[in-house]
Amino acid sequence: MARRSRRVLRYLYAKRQARSTSRADGPGYIYAFVDRRRRFKIGMTKNFAQRRVQWDKQCPSSTRRWLPPIAVKSRRRAEALAHLSLEFHCADRPKIRCGHCRKKHVEVFVFAGNGSVVWNDLVYPLLQKAARA
Ligand SMILES: [Zn+2]
Repeated sequence: MARRSRRVLRYLYAKRQARSTSRADGPGYIYAFVDRRRRFKIGMTKNFAQRRVQWDKQCPSSTRRWLPPIAVKSRRRAEALAHLSLEFHCADRPKIRCGHCRKKHVEVFVFAGNGSVVWNDLVYPLLQKAARA
């Protein structure tokens, strides 16, 4: 799926931010990994160590690079806000079959440029902002 318009994303972000935290929400982590240098997958979990093992088992990739997880108070809320702001800033949001496991992973964001620079200068600050929002 391609990016939605910035106007729509701004509206959705404000709406999600105004919503109170649901009872199903709670502490956990926002996790991220990058594959093929430019494809960032962002998700949330209660247990990062377990989620990472699960990913590496279900979708083995020799090119995956795990990034430091971010501890958050409300993992669902932080993830939803992170996805919206990443969609706002990304070059593409592809929904293609994974070359490693053949599944269609959702919430994958592609950015132009060097993966480390994109992580340090854009993705990590956006995740931190979502964690505090
Ligand atoms: Zn996969």
